[in-house]
Amino acid sequence: MNCLLCNTRLPVRLCLGDLLALRPLQQPVICEQCHTGFTRIDPNHACPGCGRPQEHPHLCCECEQWQHQYGWHLNHQALYTYNDAMKEYMQRYKFLGDYRLRHVFAVEFQQRIRHLQADLVVPIPVTTTTMATRGFNQVRGLLGDIEVTSILHHRAADKIAQSHKTRHQRLQTPQPFILSNPVVVRGKRILLVDDIYTTGRTLYHAAVLFKKAQCREIVSLSVAR
Ligand SMILES: [Zn+2]
Ligand SMILES: [Zn+2]
Repeated sequence: MNCLLCNTRLPVRLCLGDLLALRPLQQPVICEQCHTGFTRIDPNHACPGCGRPQEHPHLCCECEQWQHQYGWHLNHQALYTYNDAMKEYMQRYKFLGDYRLRHVFAVEFQQRIRHLQADLVVPIPVTTTTMATRGFNQVRGLLGDIEVTSILHHRAADKIAQSHKTRHQRLQTPQPFILSNPVVVRGKRILLVDDIYTTGRTLYHAAVLFKKAQCREIVSLSVAR
C-alpha cells in the first residue's frame, strides 16, 4: 500500500501482539514524512472552550466573548492545528473531493468520539448545494461505522459556503439550522462533530438548538482548529 498523501510505498509493519491477538491489522495510511507535517493538540494544553492550543487550560478571549454573548460556552476539542499541511489536506479532501482521504484521520477521530461517550453523535450537515457539487459530507466520511443521529439540517440553501466568507461575515451568519426531531435530544449528552473549528459560529448555532431542546450536555469535536 502507498501513502495516501504522497504516494510513496508504506512499509508493512507486523508486530507479534497483533498476530497473537488475531485482531485486524491497523496499518498506517500515510508515511512518517507526511505525518510529521501535522501538529497534534494536547487537550491538557488547550482552551477548554474551543480546543485552541495554548499553555494553560483557561478560556481564551474568543471563548470569553461567546460566554458573554450566550452565558455559556462550548466544550470543544480538536485533534490537530489548522496548519499548512492540514490546509492542504482539507483542500484535497473537500474541495478536490478525494474521498479516499477520509481514512487519514478516521481512526483517530473515531477513537476520540468513543472516548467522549456521548448519547447522540450529530454531524454538522453540509448544504444541499455542497452535497450536489462535492458528492459527500466530509464529516460523515470521517465517522466510519459510528452510529449518528441525523436530526440537524440546513434551513434552506445558503448562497455562500462558509469557506468563502470573511471572518466578519461568518460571525454575522444567521441561524442556518433546524432540528427535525427535538424530542430525542431531551436529557441526552450530545456530541457535535465537524471537520474544522474556524470561528465557532456554526457550532454555536447548532448548540443553541440542542440547548433549546433541553439536552443535558453538549461537547464538540473537530479534526482541526
Ligand atoms: Zn507520504
Ligand atoms: Zn477558546
